Amino acid sequence: MSGEGQAGKTLTAVKGTHDILPGEVEVWQKVESETKRWLELYGYKELRAPIIEPTELFQKGTGETTDIVTKEMYTFVDKGGRSITLRPEYTPSVARAIVEHRLDLLGAPMRYYYIGPMFRYDKPQKGRYRQFHQVDVEVFGEKDPALDAEIVEMADGLIRGLGVAEIETLINTVGCRVCRPAFSSALRERAAAVQDRLCGDCRRKMENNPLRIFDCKVEGCREQARSFPKITGFLCAECREHFAAFRGHLDRYGVAYRHDENLVRGLDYYTKTAFEIIDRSGGQQNAVLGGGRYDDMMRDFGGPDLCGIGFALGVERLIARLSIKPEPRRFLYVVHQGEAAKAKAIELARFFRRGGVETLIEFGGRSFRNQFGRAGKLGAAWVLIVGEDETAKGIFQLKDMAAGTQVAGPPDELLKGVRS
Ligand SMILES: [Zn+2]
Ligand SMILES: [Zn+2]
Repeated sequence: MSGEGQAGKTLTAVKGTHDILPGEVEVWQKVESETKRWLELYGYKELRAPIIEPTELFQKGTGETTDIVTKEMYTFVDKGGRSITLRPEYTPSVARAIVEHRLDLLGAPMRYYYIGPMFRYDKPQKGRYRQFHQVDVEVFGEKDPALDAEIVEMADGLIRGLGVAEIETLINTVGCRVCRPAFSSALRERAAAVQDRLCGDCRRKMENNPLRIFDCKVEGCREQARSFPKITGFLCAECREHFAAFRGHLDRYGVAYRHDENLVRGLDYYTKTAFEIIDRSGGQQNAVLGGGRYDDMMRDFGGPDLCGIGFALGVERLIARLSIKPEPRRFLYVVHQGEAAKAKAIELARFFRRGGVETLIEFGGRSFRNQFGRAGKLGAAWVLIVGEDETAKGIFQLKDMAAGTQVAGPPDELLKGVRS
């Protein structure tokens, strides 16, 4: 395709997506490497699933009635006539991978993490993207509330460790299939009584999943929801004990938390534990991380009877709150002039790279002076000078840019100097 054919039309990134450019990407890399290190301390292993999945996976896994599935999926028909979806969340992919590869039969702990893009056709707004990134953590096959507490402790430590200090951890329980129906019908009854004061969305939720009224951001709905019945009064013995033990473990860890009875998760499959970590800095209140338990999801999905728990952390939201200044990388810049020197400079650049030193050589045919200027502007730590004279003698000049000092020597000696 020719650019000239469409004069004046500049191509830009798809609406709701963004480039992460050098200068910014270093913060991403730091967050990713710190996150990976932290999660692996808890025994998690990376599981990388494809970005595209059969649409049916999310209809079954995420839930037919959720906003994600009804409104926000990027779905298309491929050339083979299959309905394909760009994953809007990661949990169903992990569940699929477990079933497909029977990871549950391997005997290894099913503790997985992944860092990568998710896609939702949402209204783009500040800090919200259609291609956004998540750190996703999943554990399958462990029922014990000690695990719920360990995950919350791990999440709390991760976010603090990355430098968001003013956070609050909220916890709740959303019950299970035994105890939730009675709660849901109490809620439905209560919501029906005040339905003219609820938004249209909440009136719809009232039928399908009244718990999600607690999720509504409309102030009038929040006001009403404050006086709605609370799950705590409806819990079955198992859910009550699970929640008490979960809190006991959190107390032993010394993790500060608040029990927020209005905290629910946006998806249908959650059972028992729900949690969120909220950023409170600058008087704000934004969830950076949310998660919970989903003990029936795998079975509903047609897989083995395996309980699950996990969380997703929004990387864009997290990074917006960080003030990480990554260390600039130290590199060597090779200046050269003349054909013989150029050949030598190319050889030396390779020699220093093989020696583990980041090395930049450019081929614009600039003057020495000009190349020195480039090295300074780009922030080179050292400059290696390769002229005709040096090339003939095999002795080169190395300048330390910060100290302003210059030494001469054969390449292996200079390499030692740079590495020490
Ligand atoms: Zn229950
Ligand atoms: Zn509402």
